[in-house]
Amino acid sequence: MTGKTHIIGGVAASLAFAQITNYEPAILLGAGVIGSLIPDICHGSSKIGRALPILSKLINGLFGHRTFTHSLLFLVIIAVLLHNFMPIEAVSAGLLVGMASHIVLDMATKRGVKLLFPLRWNVRFPLTATTGGPSEYLVFALLSLFSVYFGYGLLFSL
Ligand SMILES: [Zn+2]
Repeated sequence: MTGKTHIIGGVAASLAFAQITNYEPAILLGAGVIGSLIPDICHGSSKIGRALPILSKLINGLFGHRTFTHSLLFLVIIAVLLHNFMPIEAVSAGLLVGMASHIVLDMATKRGVKLLFPLRWNVRFPLTATTGGPSEYLVFALLSLFSVYFGYGLLFSL
């Protein structure tokens, strides 16, 4: 999926999460968007890869694309780090929700993700979209609708 789709995925996921928790929605949303871009640090041409080129090269060299940073193991490691070093819980929650949304979206592509890294299986949904193709636009449109729906609900629950 492209960065744009991941961002809207992070928006939808963090707004949905804001409805079922008491975290500050604005913090969840901001952290969710950043979190939705983190897993593609393994990809030099991604938004975050271009922002942090050295770290990106290092991770790509060590693990390749869509492996470690798209796995449950990575989520758990980040969760433990955040738990110990991040004083604002809403930031941690948002980052993790955003990252999880990224991995789920990449599971909807043909290539799938190495969800159980270091195991080598590619995990993907039975129905997949082609990155940049019409099916991705459909995913983008649906996520936009979800975002409006959850954002609207949030506005009126304040
Ligand atoms: Zn990815």
